[in-house]
Amino acid sequence: MQLNSVKWCSYGNYHGMSNSYEVIIIGGSYAGLSAGMTLGRALRRTLIIDGGEPCNRYAPASHNFITHDGEAPGTIADAARRQVLAYATVALVRDRAVELSGEDGKFSVTTTAGERYGAKKLLFATGLHDGLPDIPGMQECWGKSVVHCPYCHGYEIREQPTGILMNGEHTVNMVQLIRNWTSDLTLFTNGPAAFDPADLEACEVRIVQEPVRELLHEGGQLTGVALASGTQEAITALYLHPELRQKCPLPEEAGCELTEHGMLHVDEFDMTSVTGIYAAGDCTTRMRTVSFATGAGTRAGAMINHALVMEHFGVKHVGG
Ligand SMILES: Cc1cc2nc3c(=O)[nH]c(=O)nc-3n(C[C@H](O)[C@H](O)[C@H](O)COP(=O)(O)OP(=O)(O)OC[C@H]3O[C@@H](n4cnc5c(N)ncnc54)[C@H](O)[C@@H]3O)c2cc1C
Repeated sequence: MQLNSVKWCSYGNYHGMSNSYEVIIIGGSYAGLSAGMTLGRALRRTLIIDGGEPCNRYAPASHNFITHDGEAPGTIADAARRQVLAYATVALVRDRAVELSGEDGKFSVTTTAGERYGAKKLLFATGLHDGLPDIPGMQECWGKSVVHCPYCHGYEIREQPTGILMNGEHTVNMVQLIRNWTSDLTLFTNGPAAFDPADLEACEVRIVQEPVRELLHEGGQLTGVALASGTQEAITALYLHPELRQKCPLPEEAGCELTEHGMLHVDEFDMTSVTGIYAAGDCTTRMRTVSFATGAGTRAGAMINHALVMEHFGVKHVGG
């Protein structure tokens, strides 16, 4: 679906007349769109700015989200966008927010296209960047046969010859978890194991400590792992934990605090440490699923509306 900045403004010619909104949502995927629907239904003039790069765009199908189980991620997002933009109170531009200034009540956001938009409140629903190991074949397989989450993909690859590429902290837990979906399991530590292999005896997992040279695949479907010595291990699926970091630098630049895991810190009202700036979805949690992101967006939308209502009656909530 082609989006551009003018066509998708459901205010008609609102865009161009005034670029001032009550709320700007940066990130228009599952969390941002859900927040947009809640705010739109609460009669808040809302703008969603979306770069169009949801983290699951590499996966052919999305699972474990009831009513949409097994659908392509883009199909779910397209339907969501259609439903959200049916509300005359919500507009969406396909652009990237690159600059942020102002303060609670008068924020200003500038985009790559050079547009400047103003709003009383901001919501970041900007997701995470998945840092993958620099191994040939990795990017091609990511989301297809190299995956991060057994709850999203484990059922489809159950009982297949499966690898886990991991070492150090959490490795034992991850092996124990994945053992639930397959008994044909090989752990690739990509170097000397940084844990006690005896802890994995009960899992009956093969441990390969040799460095991994390449992932062998056909069009993203794994066929094996090539090791530094030239030996090959046949597997058809691989789990790993990507290195997660914020996809959008703007919240940190604005002073929003991160948790020890690099997520945006939010209080019980979904507000970050900066008053008037809220966050929802993957950018706030390592528990990454479409259902959590949509739920979080709905909640953040309600929290922002509540703050605007309270401010109307003279009560202000401050971030902390
Ligand atoms: C490979 C993969 C497969 C997955 N499979 C499943 C699955 O099967 N089932 C499931 O439940 N979950 C799955 N997940 C998790 C799920 O995709 C995420 O939890 C969900 O997408 C999070 O939604 P979000 O809206 O928080 O962030 P995202 O969907 O990542 O969207 C963030 C949006 O913000 C935009 N953005 C970022 N910065 C800016 C900016 N500066 N300006 C404008 N826009 C910006 C991005 O372009 C993007 O559109 C998968 C994740 C991955 C990585």
